[in-house]
Amino acid sequence: MSEALHCLGVAELAVALAAKTVSSEEVTRHLLARLAAHEHLGAFLCSDAELALAQARASDARRANDGARGALDGVPIAHKDIYVTTDFPSTAASKMLAGYRSPFDATVVAKLKNAGTVTLGKLNCDEFAMGGSNENSSVKPARNPWDPTRIPGGSSGGSAAAVAARLVPAATGTDTGGSVRQPASLTGVTGIKPTYGRCSRYGMIAFASSLDQAGPLARSAEDCALLLGAMSGYDERDSTSAQQPVPDFAAALRMPREGATGAKPLRGLRIGLPREFFGAGVAAGVTKAVRAALVQAERLGATLVDVSLPRTELSIPVYYIIAPAEASSNLSRFDGVRYGHRAAEYTDLLDMYRKSRSEGFGAEVKRRIMIGTYVLSHGYYDAYYLQAQKLRRMIADDFQAAFAHCDLIAGPVAPTVARTIGSQTDPLAEYLADIFTLPASLAGLPGMSVPAGFGEHGLPVGLQLIGNYWQEAALLHAAHALQQATDWHRCAPPECLA
Ligand code: GLN
Repeated sequence: MSEALHCLGVAELAVALAAKTVSSEEVTRHLLARLAAHEHLGAFLCSDAELALAQARASDARRANDGARGALDGVPIAHKDIYVTTDFPSTAASKMLAGYRSPFDATVVAKLKNAGTVTLGKLNCDEFAMGGSNENSSVKPARNPWDPTRIPGGSSGGSAAAVAARLVPAATGTDTGGSVRQPASLTGVTGIKPTYGRCSRYGMIAFASSLDQAGPLARSAEDCALLLGAMSGYDERDSTSAQQPVPDFAAALRMPREGATGAKPLRGLRIGLPREFFGAGVAAGVTKAVRAALVQAERLGATLVDVSLPRTELSIPVYYIIAPAEASSNLSRFDGVRYGHRAAEYTDLLDMYRKSRSEGFGAEVKRRIMIGTYVLSHGYYDAYYLQAQKLRRMIADDFQAAFAHCDLIAGPVAPTVARTIGSQTDPLAEYLADIFTLPASLAGLPGMSVPAGFGEHGLPVGLQLIGNYWQEAALLHAAHALQQATDWHRCAPPECLA
């Protein structure tokens, strides 16, 4: 069985582990070997075979004594290096935090540990989650398994690359402005960013606190449902986590819609297509793939309706004011005293701050700190930050107007397929590519990326689904129905299935 072990998703592994046709130790060994053989992808920043095998054996022992903790017990996963962990260094892929060890686990990490998962290691990302390509990692770029000369997207690029290359069945990511959805789209995996407040941010190294959310990347909606269920829930340590009941997301997938039939599981579902998501600027191959996925949804009983999100374009300046503003404040703690790298030589306190921060932060992080400090400064606050906050509310209102006519919203995740590494040097052009993920982030709405076939150069394209607040179950249900009828999510880079 060992050749095919890496091809099993989370749900499939759960079944095999429960039936004892495979042990957690066997899967873990197999994946550790794969991980070592795929170092060129740059997906992992660190791993610990001894520790993973010990966790796997502990899981097998629980199972032998009928004490398994549920579906995820014994399933190997890995965490984006934005989550702090006691078992591994936590660096946010920044020189600033090189070698940093946290005295505690992030809540999401602790929850997944308690569910019995085996942690293989920490995954590469853009420095402090700022970026959409993984090129901003201070350690190394992560590569797209479909074509290693290309980006896997970002900032959760290591997570996406690891799942797409079948190094792990699932991984955690974080999404501030698209960092779960966009890399999922560019590597052909499934990812969901839940409603803001669904998962605790405690122990997620903060980028933009009013936007940051945790989310899983896996191969299917069903696998994402299993992970998200374990990751969600109120946490008294995060005042923005919501006291919202957590549905059984995995069970919700199988719940038939009212009036649905076997052939028409989506009957009655109204999917809104914002006209702003289907205009110029989207690559022809991307539009074509997204449209083909929507035709499938129609075959399954859904109806497509036209809607409008008139302030879509404004989401770029709004996000790139609010996110840097919050980042400049969050990153002030890295001063070489309380946290982080400290310069070896300095003349006085100010010189120490200056040198430590100049040496510790990369170019994109510095750019955001400068933009953020500027838009918050006296005299500019009203013109930029306050204005952005007002527009943010209007963007959220636009969604509510659209949801009067539909149950879900659909469109592309990213305007193009994955570009080659090093081919974009203009930061503004890079920001523009976030146009379709930023609106849901600013509104705090749940969104997901579902594999929808291939576009230019035969590279993966993701279909974005956006739901209303707390409607993750509806998103996962629709994605699951689509995945039951199609096999885009089962496609993998040929080399990775071997
Ligand atoms: N690409 C966006 C940015 O650079 C989103 C990043 C994220 O979601 N963490 O800010």
